[in-house]
Amino acid sequence: MEEQLRQAQKMEAVGQLAGGVAHDFNNVLTVIAGYANILKMDLTSESAHYELADQIAAAAERAAQLTRGLLAFSRKQAMSPQRCDLGEIVRHVEQFLRRVIGEDIQLKTEILPEPLPVQVDLAQIEQVLVNLAANARDAMPGGGVFTIATGLRDGRGNGDPAGKQAVIIVADSGEGMDEETSRRIFEPFFTTKEVGKGTGLGMAIVYGIVQQHKGNISLSSTPGQGTVFTIELPLVEGGAALQPVLAQQGVPQTG
Ligand code: ADP
Repeated sequence: MEEQLRQAQKMEAVGQLAGGVAHDFNNVLTVIAGYANILKMDLTSESAHYELADQIAAAAERAAQLTRGLLAFSRKQAMSPQRCDLGEIVRHVEQFLRRVIGEDIQLKTEILPEPLPVQVDLAQIEQVLVNLAANARDAMPGGGVFTIATGLRDGRGNGDPAGKQAVIIVADSGEGMDEETSRRIFEPFFTTKEVGKGTGLGMAIVYGIVQQHKGNISLSSTPGQGTVFTIELPLVEGGAALQPVLAQQGVPQTG
């Protein structure tokens, strides 16, 4: 409990710092990208300077992606929650996840037949699944199985005040992790990957998004065998009809 509190305070402090910098930085990037695009409009595509202006715009976009990651992690992103079925969200993102993990890894989904209504920001929950898939891919360089399952947990019978929870289980048959890594996994900037391969933000973003949805994430990992993440999100019962998960604008960024 004390450890969890310490972790939450640390996340809060780094989150505020990163969020503050990311926000101002984003404004600067908007100016850079804006002027680069104006330059492009003044030039013909044969001009050598057109190519340079194009590269400036592309570099600004890459930096903006990183900044969006920092903002997501610091929970400064506005939420637009919708009431939808968790199973449908998984089905919707399945094709994209297949591309993230690549052909050597098998994707298995086990979706509960009955609807699991949750109140979530679709783009953010998809980002959670994409980040988990990217890590699973990195943990299975020689191939393996990546499983996503949905379920329902009724904590009330056990005196759990949180009530019914929709559950997503995300498992891989990869290399797993040692005790220190599983303890530090949600720490911002904690990575065991080589420089240039990992930012150490993926799981911190996942943690931030799950917290913002008043959910919970836990993991169990065995070195050499694989890792299982369990995410619980409050089930929303009764009320309005579920909204369909339509095609999203753009796709989540990996990494
Ligand atoms: P990054 O992927 O950039 O290193 P993350 O925050 O996503 O940052 O992950 C932090 C660390 O947690 C990783 O470097 C890796 O050591 C470990 N990790 C995360 N997911 C898994 C997984 N599915 N299997 C094994 N290790 C993992």
